Amino acid sequence: MEIAPGIYSMSQSKGANVHAFLLDDGNGLTLIDTLYDTDAHRILDELQRIGKTPQDIKHIVMTHCHRSHLGGLARLKQLSGAPIYAHEWEVDLIAGERKQQPVSWLPHQPARVWPLQIALNLGVAKHPPATVDTYIHEGDQVGPLRIVGCPGHSPGHLSFWWEERRLLIAGDAICTWPKLLLGWRGFTLNLRQHKESVRRLAEFDSEILCVGHGDPLPSGAAGRIRAALPTLDT
Ligand SMILES: [Zn+2]
Ligand SMILES: [Zn+2]
Repeated sequence: MEIAPGIYSMSQSKGANVHAFLLDDGNGLTLIDTLYDTDAHRILDELQRIGKTPQDIKHIVMTHCHRSHLGGLARLKQLSGAPIYAHEWEVDLIAGERKQQPVSWLPHQPARVWPLQIALNLGVAKHPPATVDTYIHEGDQVGPLRIVGCPGHSPGHLSFWWEERRLLIAGDAICTWPKLLLGWRGFTLNLRQHKESVRRLAEFDSEILCVGHGDPLPSGAAGRIRAALPTLDT
């Protein structure tokens, strides 16, 4: 669905209400993350709905390598021919060459994602491996997006900023499902880094917030994020 002109959100319940995004800046499409399903049918359906084809995708940009976000990656690369961009810390995971670093075994808020923590630690859900073409870092530009280094949730976790549209794509550093939370503690590998990253995200004068899990916030994003900052230390 189009949440703002040229900003499309796609989601599925499997993978914890996971979301991916298509951006149209007039120079082709930029895809951020690829949902859980390996056939990518939800993203292909959205492309068709907006009158586009996979070949219109010019960039595939990954927030990080957790199973919920890279199910359709290999298929979409094959269909689009677009290069994949990710931080180098995530590259060998995306290629299926390294096991995920385990997260907490204990339940944290929100308790309903505990089964996903266990599944990640047991490595039960494999993804079709894919090859990253370009390593990206803080300050790089891909399509309309400025890359924002955002480690903590995972070592190579990235967020993205579209200045012109005041759009912040926070990945899993912020969630809106089942409610607005500044990250899921049970999935955070480095809490100190994560807190620094979220404080940086709060500095952006964002209007629209898109996150990896949960519906986008279409307006007033910066105020909502800043108001939640005290919860980082609880
Ligand atoms: Zn994640
Ligand atoms: Zn996630």
